[in-house]
Amino acid sequence: MTDRLFHLIRDTVVLWDEGGRITAWNPAAATLYGWTEDEAVGATVEDLLGPVPSDLAEAVLERRTATGTIVLVQASWTRDASGVLEVGRDITGQRQVEDRLKRSELRYSSLFQAMAAGFWELDFAPVGAFLRQARSEGITDFPRHFDEHPDFVREMMRRTRVLDVNETTLTMFGIGGRDSLADTVEPYWPETSTSVYAAAVKAAIARRSHYMAETRLRRKDGCEFDVLFTAAFPHEGLMQGALLVGVIDISERLAAQADLRRLRDDFAHAARVSMLGELAASIAHEVNQPLAAISTNAAASLRWLSRDRPEIERAVALTSRIGADAQRAADVISRVRAMAAKQAAAQGPLGLRDVIDETLLFLRDELQARGAQIAVSVEPLTVHGDRTQLQQVLVNLIMNAVQAAAPAHASLTISARGRDDYLEVKVADQGPGLAVDPDSLFTSFYSTKPDGMGLGLPICRSIIEAHGGTITAANAPEGGAVFVIRLPAEGAHTNV
Ligand code: ADP
Repeated sequence: MTDRLFHLIRDTVVLWDEGGRITAWNPAAATLYGWTEDEAVGATVEDLLGPVPSDLAEAVLERRTATGTIVLVQASWTRDASGVLEVGRDITGQRQVEDRLKRSELRYSSLFQAMAAGFWELDFAPVGAFLRQARSEGITDFPRHFDEHPDFVREMMRRTRVLDVNETTLTMFGIGGRDSLADTVEPYWPETSTSVYAAAVKAAIARRSHYMAETRLRRKDGCEFDVLFTAAFPHEGLMQGALLVGVIDISERLAAQADLRRLRDDFAHAARVSMLGELAASIAHEVNQPLAAISTNAAASLRWLSRDRPEIERAVALTSRIGADAQRAADVISRVRAMAAKQAAAQGPLGLRDVIDETLLFLRDELQARGAQIAVSVEPLTVHGDRTQLQQVLVNLIMNAVQAAAPAHASLTISARGRDDYLEVKVADQGPGLAVDPDSLFTSFYSTKPDGMGLGLPICRSIIEAHGGTITAANAPEGGAVFVIRLPAEGAHTNV
């Protein structure tokens, strides 16, 4: 060994004679162990570095340095006539990294196994190769290609290899054991979910960090179930390799939601029926009395008039009583209508935006289930009134708009702005529009729905009028119906 090499080498080099006395100590040894060449040369190796295996076979040793820290050294020795030569390498850092890696692998694998979510470790590299080949054959617009060629997407599934899954996945998909796991993901994706798989690959190609969607997957026995599917795409790009996908079984949650929705619909229907019943009973009761009086007075009046000498004066008196009774009956009807809008509105300053946001939150499931698109543009305005009643009006208008549209095609706009002395809320849809005179919707029990009562809009008008406002409906020139609510502008321009 030349002296230069001895000084330059990154490994530690230590030489000692037959008596164990150190005769050479290179700079790397000085750096690692903390003793200078002068301090080390002449000392015994046992004192400085501790015992050395007697068979001098390669070993990893823990050694204490001059400053007292422990280092891990991988060492090998050669013996010749002049003594023993030790070459050592500091592997402390490397071992720490390995330990950390092992710990994190352990953590990862216990997480992987213990989570309630199903995890799939997939090898996407063959799909990457497949896509690159497709590109070399001239396919450039992948999203469009996926949409137009579902077979191509199925082929990508067949090339997505399953590396591993956790226990939850085995249970969720009814797979007996890892040996019964299919090699690719294709058997677990029903045809109807192909577009979701395509959307996930599109998201990856667009360099999005993750993709999430509700879809349906297939158990081993062929049964389909609802899942929340999530994929997190690695930074370096999906095409290179492993990908972790999570699957959460949401079939029970969806079933519970559907039950709840049905229950709510039933409840709303029952509430409407009972309200109609109440209305009818009180109308019948209260109107019966003036009607009976009208009929008696009309008969008496006829008798006076059909005498040989008609008693005009008596007939006039009776006829005016008939007029007064008819007015009483009309008053009863309007009192009942006011009752339908509950008691006097609770007056309070409300942020209009909050009122609308809460209404949409309340209807969220319903709107989502119907695939409704809603655009909201609301100026910050304050309205005075009863939160629940105003929300009742909005719920009715929004549900009418959604129900009027073809299934899954509802698209509506809710806007609100302050005018000079009033504020205006508009609910406009792109449905078929109103088939009859818009004003009659608010006064009659008109309904085109099989289970409709035609009560919604009359109640809306009562509520809005109780708030000192007006509600009107019209067909928009560009199609669809638009309902306009105007409320007094008391503080209408105050920002909230
Ligand atoms: P119901 O919803 O019980 O029918 P409503 O008084 O709320 O009672 O509505 C009365 C009728 O008005 C509906 O049945 C429907 O024919 C019509 N209507 C209401 N809103 C709309 C709309 N946005 N587009 C088309 N028709 C509508």
